[in-house]
Amino acid sequence: MTRRGHIPYRMCIGCGTRKPKKELIRLVLQNGCTITLDTTGKLPGRGAYVCPASSCVRQAQKRKAFTRAFRYQGEIFGIDKIIEILDKSSGNDDDRGTG
Ligand SMILES: [Zn+2]
Repeated sequence: MTRRGHIPYRMCIGCGTRKPKKELIRLVLQNGCTITLDTTGKLPGRGAYVCPASSCVRQAQKRKAFTRAFRYQGEIFGIDKIIEILDKSSGNDDDRGTG
């Protein structure tokens, strides 16, 4: 049995699936109340991971998973913007392999 290097796994706070970190997107809470998409993985602040799908972000919002992930009880801003970005960046030519 061989084992290759350790792959860091993270859980999507939307659907709860565990995936390799690089297959998820990192969200960071900035200025105490605004969620920012962390494309570099290097932004400071408390992070949470979701699949790169707006449905997972919506699910996380519904489940108040952001509140838990960021340990922040107040209103969180920026979620709609992230959903918008993900909606735009997906679903163009992703329909191969089914049927
Ligand atoms: Zn997910």
